[in-house]
Amino acid sequence: MLAMNYRGPLRVRIDEKPMPKILHPQDAIVRVTRSCICGSDLHLYNGNVPDTRVGSTFGHEFTGIVEEIGSEVTKVKVGDHVLVPFNISCGQCAFCKQELYGNCHESNPEATAVGAIFGYSHTAGGYDGGQAEYVRVPYANVGPTIIPEGMDPDDAVLLTDVVPTGYQAAEMAGIQKGDTVVVFGAGPIGIMAAKCAWLFGAGRVMIIDKIEYRLEFAKNYSQCEAYNYESVGDPVLFIKKATDWMGADVVIDAVGAEATGNAMQTITGRKLLLQAGSATALHWAINSVKKGGIVSIVGVYGPTDNLVPIGNVLNKGLTIRANQASVKRLLPRLIEHVQAGRINPKGLITHRIPLEEVSEAYRMFSQKLDNCIKPILIPPR
Ligand code: NAD
Ligand code: ZN
Repeated sequence: MLAMNYRGPLRVRIDEKPMPKILHPQDAIVRVTRSCICGSDLHLYNGNVPDTRVGSTFGHEFTGIVEEIGSEVTKVKVGDHVLVPFNISCGQCAFCKQELYGNCHESNPEATAVGAIFGYSHTAGGYDGGQAEYVRVPYANVGPTIIPEGMDPDDAVLLTDVVPTGYQAAEMAGIQKGDTVVVFGAGPIGIMAAKCAWLFGAGRVMIIDKIEYRLEFAKNYSQCEAYNYESVGDPVLFIKKATDWMGADVVIDAVGAEATGNAMQTITGRKLLLQAGSATALHWAINSVKKGGIVSIVGVYGPTDNLVPIGNVLNKGLTIRANQASVKRLLPRLIEHVQAGRINPKGLITHRIPLEEVSEAYRMFSQKLDNCIKPILIPPR
């Protein structure tokens, strides 16, 4: 089968790889119909995630058709059209039982921090991902969800990550009616978080980035104010001024590690990697939220990105909430929001690219070319 193949930082290509096999009675093999590239893939692509092995296949946002099932799979059958949450969750461990599906223990028992994620390095379990024609889906009684009758598959594929992550960012922020919400990062996640902030009763939503086309897109899609941090001067001061010097009620970080330095810095050696941890957006978030406010972090950081101004967190009495989205927990209510037209996931998709052109797709998405918001890869058939 054809699959994306990681060859080292900034190098990915399409290759022939062996077909995945059922390795456990609860596995399914899914023939991929759509697979997105995510901002999280860029951390891998840029060489920021430890133990990203050459030869692995990325891709944690995909839909497909069940091709084969193991003997213990009962929740899906061959031929079902499914969307597959990016978290790999056993459904049985103490964390899954609390619906913390992004923090499953069984699927990645050796990790101290992260649960397992499709196509997200050996740090996240070493499972191959869905930027391929076929993918092995472990714990197939837990994650894969049959795409509801009548739902556009382009909407479905964004329910595997972007919608739940944006929604959970707003949920974790504990937005109260009338709150001023600031979102750092106008990528798909930040745009979705800004959109969802209204569902929680926000009174004012501001999004901050430096890429004009993304700010323009966010303004229209999320009906929010959009500001370029390169033209407002000091973004912290700007937010203070815009909020009568109180600070925003809540701030969402939808940026993550890319703000800590460019890819070249991080791939030229461990020493530079350690120096790269400045976490700009996170500093701005902590410094621009009001005293006693909440900072909600969904941007992904590597283990070295920990130079946060913790003294300001203490002195301001802040609450910091952060997690991988718990996709399965959120799916029922998000499917309702989509069906009711309150969220329009496919409105984020700007590019449909043949899987064979994966290398070019990564280049375009990582360099934010061609007004790209969200690209999806389409395998041949
Ligand atoms: P993206 O790369 O498309 O967008 C990131 C945006 O941040 C870009 O538009 C960039 O210009 C902007 N940016 C960079 N530095 C900034 C700064 N200092 N201030 C404001 N904006 C800045 O990525 P995406 O797909 O939107 O994902 C965003 C983040 O969310 C990534 O870190 C990704 O790994 C993470 N993510 C987390 C989860 C989760 O479950 N927690 C799930 C998916 C994605
Ligand atoms: Zn993703």
